[in-house]
Amino acid sequence: MAETAYIALGSNLGDRLAAIESAVRSLRATPGVTITTVSEVVESKPIGPACQNDYLNAAVRLETTLSPRRLLQRCQEIEAEHGRNRAEERRWGPRPLDLDLLMCGESVIDEPDLTVPHPLMHKRDFVLRPLAQIAPGALHPVLKVTVESLLSSLPAETAMEYAPDVSCSLGWLSR
Ligand code: ATP
Ligand code: MG
Ligand code: MG
Repeated sequence: MAETAYIALGSNLGDRLAAIESAVRSLRATPGVTITTVSEVVESKPIGPACQNDYLNAAVRLETTLSPRRLLQRCQEIEAEHGRNRAEERRWGPRPLDLDLLMCGESVIDEPDLTVPHPLMHKRDFVLRPLAQIAPGALHPVLKVTVESLLSSLPAETAMEYAPDVSCSLGWLSR
């Protein structure tokens, strides 16, 4: 049975927009995955170590017959294909591509290498803002509140600006 899942995309190394577009195409080409909506791209300040570039972030909604674990594996393959090498990274350091599985149907998973819903999604403006564009009414299966209300509950200081020069729509990548 197909489930609706949401993936957050981020990039702060190299050609950030190209990486995000290419990752959406790779997800779209994955058997068992149908991308249904792609958010606009936003720009955000990095968390983690200082002195790294700003991020571009986006979110996609998809229908999938893959399990959450298979979907995460596919995300990690796509990250690697875009030059991501976790072995050489610091936590929250710069990376050409980050794909995080935010929610997958009603699944609640708490395992060492897979937590769904993503454990920090409800605290992150750079995740919730693009997600709220494409799925304002989606219900967080643990907190039992909508994405829109998670976003509006964030403290004001976490708010960020849309990237002025990259406020492009990736809607053409949906099908
Ligand atoms: P954060 O998760 O805080 O955004 P990050 O994206 O930088 O940090 P990564 O280095 O991409 O973290 O991933 C670290 C580990 O997180 C991965 O090995 C992966 O197994 C695990 N992980 C657990 N749950 C998830 C999830 N829902 N989505 C993506 N990775 C997850
Ligand atoms: Mg992440
Ligand atoms: Mg990640």
